[in-house]
This record gives sequence, structure tokens and C-alpha cells, in this order.
Amino acid sequence: MQKILQAVQKPARNATHSVAGGKNKILRQNSQEVPVREITTPKIKKILKEMSIALKSQNDGVALAAPQIRYSLQIFIVSGKIFDKDFIRGKGLPVNKKEIPKDLIFINPKILKLSREKEWVPEGCLSIRWLYGNVYRSKKATITAYNENGKKFIRGASGLLAQIFQHETEHLSGILFIDHAKDIKEEIPK
Ligand SMILES: [Zn+2]
Repeated sequence: MQKILQAVQKPARNATHSVAGGKNKILRQNSQEVPVREITTPKIKKILKEMSIALKSQNDGVALAAPQIRYSLQIFIVSGKIFDKDFIRGKGLPVNKKEIPKDLIFINPKILKLSREKEWVPEGCLSIRWLYGNVYRSKKATITAYNENGKKFIRGASGLLAQIFQHETEHLSGILFIDHAKDIKEEIPK
């Protein structure tokens, strides 16, 4: 627990404004593994809840890594909305959509396999508003992680989810998409 307390520097107070911007130093750090026996503790549950609230506050957001809300921990979550038939990339779900599928939780994730086949895909980041660029990503990815119950699992993905695995695991080692994107431009929403 001591380790985690040290990792938690500035807990987010207001979820709506809690996604840290590019000046947040934690975004550039290697984040710490969560000791497996601590995954189900109230401390981690609270962080997961904060992450979920912060992600839900951003309509266009599809995933969030713990360092983005200032926790230097190896955790990311993926919004369940990306699996909804009404989901539109870059926009999210229609505002009248009531039932949003559960977030997927990845604790201490490790990429096991990346396809050799890659493609340039458009990308943005909740911590770097409002920059977008194209990033060269593997089309498929396989990841292993622990879920919120401390159970280890393996998940394979292609397309958007594979891209998310790559973007989010980079966050956990202090890398941002702008470090290797091309055609970076600012697109402020109207
Ligand atoms: Zn990001």
C-alpha cells in the first residue's frame, strides 16, 4: 500500500476537469505496477471509479490511462461504448443513448503480440487537446492484464481496440502519440 500512496500524487477532485493536460509530469513517467494482492482493495476501486467518471465526461473519449488523471499506476480502461452499434469514432454515442456497456479494465497490462502488418490510423488523446495526427499502428494486438477482480486474462484485438492497446500501454511508459505521429494538426471542435 505504501508504494501506491507514493504513486498517488494529486488525486483528481473534479472528474470533469480531471484529465490532466500535456504539462502533467506524470504523463512522462514510467508508471508503477499494482501489486496483485492490492487490485481488489478500496484504494484501487476508488481509482478505477475516478477513471471511469473522467472517461465518461468526454464524449469522444474511448479509453483512459491512470497517469492521465495523475495516478502513476499501470492501469487503463476502455469504454464499452466502442462495442455499441451506434458508436461513431471521434464522436462517441448519440446523447440519448441510455445504456452504455461496461468499461473494460486492464491492470498491469503487457502487450504479448503485435502484428507485423501495420497501418496509418488517425489518433488523438484526451490529455493533448485538440491535436490529432496519423500514427503507424499494428493492425492486431494481443494483451495480457489483470481485471478488477485480480484475475489474469489474455485478449486479442484488431482495428480500434488494437490501436487503443498500443496507445494506452504507451501512456504507461511515458510515451504520447505526438512523439511519433505525422501530419499533426489542431482541430478545435466548433
Ligand atoms: Zn492518450
